[in-house]
Amino acid sequence: METKIIDGKKISEEIKLEIANDTKSFQNKFLVKPGLAVVLVGNDPASSVYVRNKEKSAIDSGMRGKTINLPSTVSEQDLLNIIENLNLSNEIHGILVQLPLPSHISQEKIVEKINPIKDVDGLHPFNSGLLSAGTPRFIPATPAGIRELLIRSDFDTDGKHVAILGRSNIVGRPLANLLSMKSNGGNATVSLCHSRTNNLKDITQMADIIVAAIGIPNFVTQEMVKENAVVIDVGINRVESSLHKRGYRLVGDVEFETVKLKCKAITPVPGGVGPMTIAMLLSNTLQAAKLQCA
Ligand code: NAD
Repeated sequence: METKIIDGKKISEEIKLEIANDTKSFQNKFLVKPGLAVVLVGNDPASSVYVRNKEKSAIDSGMRGKTINLPSTVSEQDLLNIIENLNLSNEIHGILVQLPLPSHISQEKIVEKINPIKDVDGLHPFNSGLLSAGTPRFIPATPAGIRELLIRSDFDTDGKHVAILGRSNIVGRPLANLLSMKSNGGNATVSLCHSRTNNLKDITQMADIIVAAIGIPNFVTQEMVKENAVVIDVGINRVESSLHKRGYRLVGDVEFETVKLKCKAITPVPGGVGPMTIAMLLSNTLQAAKLQCA
C-alpha cells in the first residue's frame, strides 16, 4: 500500500476556515473581536517569520492581530509591565511571548506573569497543571496540532504505543500528557524519550506512532521505524543548500526519503506539523475570547 503523506497544510486550512466561521458567529453574538498579541524580543530572523505568520493568520481569521516588537536589550521589568498592560486590555484575549528570550530575562517569570485565562500558548504552570491533571484548558499549540492531525487523518491512538522523542515543555512533555489522556485522540501508551534514554532504537522499533521533536536533522532513520508505523516529524532544521537562493533548506528530524518507504504515513517538513501549530493557536485565541466573554 502506498505511504500516506499527511498534508498538514490542507488540514490546517480546513481548521482555519472553521475558526473564521466560528469567529464571525462569536463576534455577531458578543460584539467582540477576538484579539491575539504576540510579543517578540530581539530580531532573530526565524522568530520574526513565525511571529509575522501568527499575526497575519489571526487577521485572516477575522481576529485582531497585534505584534509588539521589542529590542533584545529590553529589561525584564519593562517586559513584565507590557504583559501587565496586555493582561488588562479588553481588546486582547490571547497573549503569546515568542521564546526563547534573551538570557537576562527569566522565561519562567515572564510566562507566569501572563494571566492564565489569556495564556494561549498553554505554558503557564496553571494551564500545564490542568493538562497534567487530564482536564486541559489551553493545550500548547504544537501538541494540540499533532493530536488534531492524527484524528483528522483517521489514525486512532487508542491502545497504541507512541514513542515521543524530545521532552521539551512546548512539545514532547505536553504531548505525552495529551496522548495518554482518557479521551478521544488519547488513550495511548506513551514512551517519552530524551537525550538520556538508553536503547532508543529498541523503543522506537516497537512504536505504532513515532513523534520526533528533538531538533537534529535526519535523526530518525529507517532502521528505527517499525513496518507500517505512523511517523510525525516536528523538527524544523536549517541545513545549508547551494540550490536554494536563501542558502539553506528546511528539513525535519526524520530521514524522510528512506523512512517513507517503510512507514504507513508520514508528515513532510515543511507542510506537516508547522501549519497546524498556527491553526491551533488561533483556536486557543478564540476559546480564550469565549471564556472571557461568557
Ligand atoms: P528542545 O531543544 O527544547 O528539546 C529537544 C529535546 O530533544 C530535549 O528534550 C532532548 O532531551 C531531546 N534530545 C536531544 N538529543 C536527543 C537524542 N539524541 N535522542 C533523544 N532525544 C534527544 O526542542 P523543542 O523546542 O522541543 O523543538 C524540537 C524541534 O521541533 C526543533 O527542531 C524545533 O524547531 C521544532 N519545533 C517545531 C514546531 C512546529 O510548529 N513544527 C514547534 C516547536 C518546535
